[in-house]
Amino acid sequence: MTTDTVLLEARHVTQRFRLPNGQILEALHDLSLTVREQEVVALVGPSGCGKSTLLRLFAGLARPGEGTVLYRGQRLDGVLGAGAMVFQSFALLPWLTVAQNVAMGLEARGVHGPAQRDAVARAINLVGLDGFEQAYPKELSGGMKQRVGFARALAVAPEILLMDEPFGALDPLTAENLRSQVVDLWRDPATGVNTLVVVTHSVEEAVFLAGRIVVFGSNPGHVREELKNSLPYPRRERSPEFEAMVDRLHAILTATLLPEPEAAPAPQRLVPFPRVHVAEVAGLLDHLATRPDGRGPVFELAEDLGVDYDRMTAVVRGAEQLGWVATPGEMVQLTPAGRDVLAGDDAARKVATRVRLKQHPLFARVIAMLKEETEEIEEGAGKAELADEELLADLTIYFPFIPAESLFATIIEWGRYAELLDHDAAAGRLRLLAQ
Ligand code: ADP
Repeated sequence: MTTDTVLLEARHVTQRFRLPNGQILEALHDLSLTVREQEVVALVGPSGCGKSTLLRLFAGLARPGEGTVLYRGQRLDGVLGAGAMVFQSFALLPWLTVAQNVAMGLEARGVHGPAQRDAVARAINLVGLDGFEQAYPKELSGGMKQRVGFARALAVAPEILLMDEPFGALDPLTAENLRSQVVDLWRDPATGVNTLVVVTHSVEEAVFLAGRIVVFGSNPGHVREELKNSLPYPRRERSPEFEAMVDRLHAILTATLLPEPEAAPAPQRLVPFPRVHVAEVAGLLDHLATRPDGRGPVFELAEDLGVDYDRMTAVVRGAEQLGWVATPGEMVQLTPAGRDVLAGDDAARKVATRVRLKQHPLFARVIAMLKEETEEIEEGAGKAELADEELLADLTIYFPFIPAESLFATIIEWGRYAELLDHDAAAGRLRLLAQ
């Protein structure tokens, strides 16, 4: 279905940002990428690898520091007239009605009067929001708000829809539903939209939507690999072919977290924390202290404590990652730090755990995400909070073979115990307690 016409092209684009502390951050380095007419291209990769930055460059919302962005072979000058953006955060104005929000893009393009009314009605109809024209955003569910976001983009009859995690803020069922509708919109010639570029955290979403999946690497952002996806539309998420493609993409994404051959020393690699309880690790330390020299073979410890070998191994790995035991050979040995923890009272144990968790790459990553969120809050005065979904999405990408929910539960249990994190299950938000 793809034609050979190149619609968008980034040619040797490098983009740098000056950070508040004066440092220069290279978000994209010498990146070249084309998007052809009729394509659906998904941009995936770890957080912060420049996917949104590239999308904004394609939309003409920013200009590249070096290199060129072209539309149909012409250097893009100003905002991309042929494109419209859909954002994760809906970006609706609360004091405007649905119809007025949808009309915003048209206003900006000088479309008024009956032409505007017709375009708004058509766009609202396309996303199935008829009857809600006069409603205000606060009266709508998340899914409906995002429909308004889509309608606003569709109202200007764009050729290209640029979407930045458009389903990221929605519950999974709503996301799935809207995702299918976006494919329908793209396949329906009547909508005028023939090309999609979507930034996503979700491997399944990329495989569901895209004909070509571009995997980014980070530090600085660049294209690491491209995966062609020729599964026929409409795609069925649970078919073996679909699952096979998901597995392939997972494997590529996992590989992107390993150092590239030519790359400089990579940042500390993320390791998952074993899914063990605080009480289990404490039990192991207590037990080791009762043994001669504070040591013993894993199988003996398993027997002593009445747990199976695999479970014991996981608990030992947890204690080891926290620096409280060492494992020379088959032996498990209490370390001096482990003895210190045992000597402390409950409060001291919590502090010691907090110190260790902050040094653990996985928890350090969660803390960094939380702090990043705070910086994004205006005036920087808000609390450091993160939606569960964001962390779950991150975990899914980093550890595709571990169920994200269970790793998430472990992070919360340990974070809470150490008084480092708090979790509001009702609101679905994670909060940073200690700095
Ligand atoms: P992704 O979409 O892959 O998560 P982004 O494109 O949002 O990544 O960001 C890439 C990097 O550039 C990140 O480190 C981000 O913090 C930084 N960045 C993006 N926009 C700006 C900006 N306007 N000022 C400073 N840094 C920015």
